[in-house]
Order: sequence, then C-alpha cells, then structure tokens
Amino acid sequence: MISFAFSDEQEDFRSQLRKFAIAELAPKYQERSAKAEFSWEAHRQLADLGVLGIGLPEEYGGTGSADPVTLGLATEALAYGDVNVAAAPVQVGLVAAQLAHEGHPSVVKEWLPKLIAGEVVAAIAVTEPIGGSDVSNLTTEARKVVGGWEITGEKIAITHATSAAVALVYAREPGTTGYAGISCFAVPLDAVGVSRSHTPGMGALPLCWGGLVFENVFVSDEHLVGEQGRGFAGAMEHFDFSRPGLGLLCLGAAQASVDEAVAWAQQREAFGRPIAAFQGVSFPLAEHATYMEAARWLCYRSLWSRTAGEKHTHYAAMSKWWPPLVAKNAIETAIVTFGNLGYSTEMSLQQRHRDVMSYLIADGTAGIQKRIIATTMMGKVAAL
Ligand SMILES: Cc1cc2nc3c(=O)[nH]c(=O)nc-3n(C[C@H](O)[C@H](O)[C@H](O)COP(=O)(O)OP(=O)(O)OC[C@H]3O[C@@H](n4cnc5c(N)ncnc54)[C@H](O)[C@@H]3O)c2cc1C
Repeated sequence: MISFAFSDEQEDFRSQLRKFAIAELAPKYQERSAKAEFSWEAHRQLADLGVLGIGLPEEYGGTGSADPVTLGLATEALAYGDVNVAAAPVQVGLVAAQLAHEGHPSVVKEWLPKLIAGEVVAAIAVTEPIGGSDVSNLTTEARKVVGGWEITGEKIAITHATSAAVALVYAREPGTTGYAGISCFAVPLDAVGVSRSHTPGMGALPLCWGGLVFENVFVSDEHLVGEQGRGFAGAMEHFDFSRPGLGLLCLGAAQASVDEAVAWAQQREAFGRPIAAFQGVSFPLAEHATYMEAARWLCYRSLWSRTAGEKHTHYAAMSKWWPPLVAKNAIETAIVTFGNLGYSTEMSLQQRHRDVMSYLIADGTAGIQKRIIATTMMGKVAAL
C-alpha cells in the first residue's frame, strides 16, 4: 500500500530542526537579513546539528549514502525560522555532493571536511553577463596548460560570491560551442587572479550574492570536477536535487507566514468579531494551505523518486517553478491579512517575501523549468 510517511528518524530530525528554527533562528532572522554578511554562527550551529553532512561520505564526517528526502525535510524545517540560513542544506546537495562524488580525491579531502564542519562554504558559478538561462552559451574559458588549466572569464549573480572559499566554476575549452566542451573546476577563491564583488539585492543579503572575475587563474589537473567536456551534465544531475530543495525552502517560509496570519485572524477583531469569521479572510488562507500542501508533496515526490533512482528531472523542474510561486502568493496573502502591520518592516513577512522572490529566478526561472517539463513531454521540439 502507498505510504506518505517519513521514517521515525526523519520525523525526529525534522521536529528537532523545527524547534531549533523557532527558538534559535526566527528571533534574529530580521537582524541577520539586514546585513550582506554570511551568518557563520548560525551556519556552524547547523554543522553541530548534523545538517551539513547529510548524504556526504562518512570518512569526511557525513552521514553516508545520499539522502535527498532528509535534506529536503531539513531545508523546509529550518526555513520556518530563517529562509537564508536554511539555504545551506540545498548547497550541501548541490555543490558539496557534486564535489564529493565527482571531485579528485585530493581536492575532496581538502574541502569536504571543512564544508561539513561549517568552517567554509562553497559556491556554484554558472551564470555570466551574457545570460544565465542559456548555459550552452557560456564564454568563460578554460585553457589547458602544463599541469593544469588557466581560467579566464566573468560570472555574475553568484550566491556566496563574497563568502565562499571555493567555487565550482563552469568554463569551456577554446573553440568549443554548445554544451560540449564545458567542464567544471573547483577553484579556490583566494587563487591569484580571482576578484569578487558584492551585488546589492532586494533580499537574501546574507547569502553574499555577487560577481566573480577570473583572470588567467591557474588550477592543477586535480581541480577538474567530473569528466572533461561534460561539466554541464554533472551540474544538471545536481540541479535535479536543488530544485525541489528550493521549493521546500520557499514553502517553509510560507508556512511560517500563513501560521502567523491564521493566529492573527483569530485574535484581530473588526465589525464586532474576529476577522477569521469573514470568509473573505479565511478562504484565501484555506486556499493557500491547499496549494502549499500540494506543492510540498510535489517536492517530496521528486526527492523520493531521486532516492528510488527513478527519472525525476521533470518533477524537479515542476518543483522549482510552482512551489516558489505558491509560497510567494501565500506570503502576500499573509501580509494583507495583517493589514497595515503586514506592510511594516518590523514584521518578518516582508523580509520573507523579498527572500522568497529570489527563488523565482535563482536556479532557473519558471520559463526554463517549463521548457524542461515540455521537453520531457514532447521531446526536443519543445526546446528549439
Ligand atoms: C538570488 C539569486 C541567486 C543566484 N545564485 C546563482 C548561483 O549561485 N550561481 C549561478 O550560476 N547563478 C545564480 N543565479 C543566477 C540565475 O541562475 C540566473 O539569473 C537565471 O538562470 C536567469 O538567467 P538571467 O538572469 O541571465 O536571465 P536571462 O537568461 O537573460 O532570462 C531573462 C528572462 O527571459 C526568460 N527566458 C530566457 N530564455 C527563455 C526560454 N527559452 N523560454 C522562456 N523564457 C525564457 C527567462 O525566464 C527570464 O525571465 C542567481 C540568481 C539570483 C536572483
């Protein structure tokens, strides 16, 4: 018989993280969100809770075999308290996992223990000034030299641009076009020739968003991650995890907002009764609760299929375009439910709205996700 239950272990972990999110993260969410500084203290607490090693090799401090559902549960639970801090488990499955599974042992040994311990963070650098949706067009160059590679180019809109110690950088060999010839390199961001800059954004400030410039940056052969010339295939495999992860991230923040609105609707009075008595107030909240529940299960469906080794690229794309939109809409309704108070910057609602908005773009817009889904349905004709 079909079961939608998580294991007892997963339920215990989720409940532990949810308590942590409410008690430790939520009270300082606004304070952290106001600064373009990575929240190292909270990040190290995640390491202590075992979040940063989920699904990563045991020899470096991880939990062992891949566990996308638990990573998703952790993300959703933490986002209830702070949607920016909660992005960490998504980076675990997107960046650390790629490095762990496809990196050279010496490079993995150098970075993975520090990533799992919360001592450093890693970035993934794909997007360039000429465009992010059409990755096949990227121009950053990786030129083969004796003993390694020289990387030259510019990346923009990169999460952790100013906070990461290492980045997975996508670059192509000279003379190649399309996806062919794109490789992935683990580039230490203190290497000679790397410069970084912060880009002010409307939210997600603690994720240290910005640009990276590489001027003839040398990395040794061991820094190639995955197969030469097949770098993007490696990234796509991990986007299939990050997309439902980001859906759950947004939904965790939306759930906190709707819960606050529900509590407020029961206590705030207008026209001699609690505003919850007006269907104009209660029905939109009931509708958002319905959409959020459906969106959650879409994300978990995708993560479960990944665990089971089933095809899930289309579920992952569905989980990226719809749940963040569902979350954004739910937060907007929560804001309106609070009336003038909801618009005040003293409340977390507007901050969650700005933070969640970033995921309508990051990791591929709705347009790109629908293109992936349509391609699964109709073949390459849908991506011409
Ligand atoms: C907060 C944030 C964090 C990010 N973090 C990272 C990161 O860590 N690493 C990284 O590499 N990038 C990152 N990005 C960049 C992000 O992945 C890109 O912004 C995104 O893929 C879109 O690329 P673009 O901005 O160049 O828009 P464009 O590619 O120029 O697209 C512009 C518009 O055209 C639409 N469009 C383009 N082609 C099509 C099509 N075929 N069908 C339908 N619509 C189409 C898009 O949907 C979009 O609305 C981040 C972005 C944000 C906002």
